[in-house]
Amino acid sequence: MKVITEYKISLYCCMFNDCTKNYTTKFNLKRHVEITHLKQKKHKCDYCGKFFVSQQNLKEHIFIHTGAKPYQCTICGEYFRQISQLSLHKRNHEMQERPQGYCLDAKALETKPLSLAELVIQKIRDYTLCNK
Ligand SMILES: [Zn+2]
Ligand SMILES: [Zn+2]
Ligand SMILES: [Zn+2]
Repeated sequence: MKVITEYKISLYCCMFNDCTKNYTTKFNLKRHVEITHLKQKKHKCDYCGKFFVSQQNLKEHIFIHTGAKPYQCTICGEYFRQISQLSLHKRNHEMQERPQGYCLDAKALETKPLSLAELVIQKIRDYTLCNK
C-alpha cells in the first residue's frame, strides 16, 4: 500500500498584514498584490509603471529616470539622488567636524535654507547627538 507522504502544493501567501489570501502560483499572488494592495496606494511611476508604497519612495525612484540629484549637502554642496544617501554622507561630516556630544542648535538651521526633508534629517541627527 502506497502512502502519500508529501503534498507538492506550495502556497504563496500575501505578505500584507491584514490580508490572509494565498495562491498556488506566484503570478496569481503578484497580480493580487498589484491589484488589491499596490493600486490602493496610488504611487505609480509614470515612466516605468512600477508601484511604490510611499510617495517618498516614488519620488526618489523617479529621479533615476530624470537623472536629477535634488538633495544637496549643506556643508560641502555635493548633490545626492536619495535622501538616505545624503544623510549617510552628512554623517561623515559629523565624524570629522563635530566634537562628540556637541548639540547642533537652531541657529545653524536659520542661517541656511533647508528643504523640509533636510530639516527632518537635521532634527533626527540633533536628537541622536543629544541623546548619546
Ligand atoms: Zn493580499
Ligand atoms: Zn520608474
Ligand atoms: Zn557634504
